[in-house]
Amino acid sequence: MIYVRVRLGSINLTLPVKERYNSTAMERVYIPCDRCGNDIEYPDDLMVSALWGLIPKKYHRVCYAEREKEVVYQIFYQTYPVNFGMGNLVAVLSPLLAIGLAWWVWQETHLFALVVLLGLVGIWPLVLRLFVYWRWERPLISSFSIR
Ligand SMILES: [Zn+2]
Repeated sequence: MIYVRVRLGSINLTLPVKERYNSTAMERVYIPCDRCGNDIEYPDDLMVSALWGLIPKKYHRVCYAEREKEVVYQIFYQTYPVNFGMGNLVAVLSPLLAIGLAWWVWQETHLFALVVLLGLVGIWPLVLRLFVYWRWERPLISSFSIR
């Protein structure tokens, strides 16, 4: 709710005004590419890769393709984008796999620390995927749809 201050002579009134648009949706978002530094403007142009499979980095489609050719990229980054096909599949399957594996490890060894570690490793791709959606994809989609 937004409040508007109205002045009538010596009387000050504060009136509530209904918001017409969702204020977060109205904001223009700036999502700079981690390679060229320019803004990523279209939802379809966003490609996310993860450094060591841990830290998400965002690129234009073209910049991502350029990145893929570099040796450093091939060593330190996961070889598929987080926010497309394979990344989505991994995000869903990895926690399930980790739960199964953790259960088996627990039955066999009763090493709680190992089970926790497996759980964390397994859940991370899903956390990463949701983070990318919430932080970059969703704002881009809503920003794009109002233009
Ligand atoms: Zn770029």
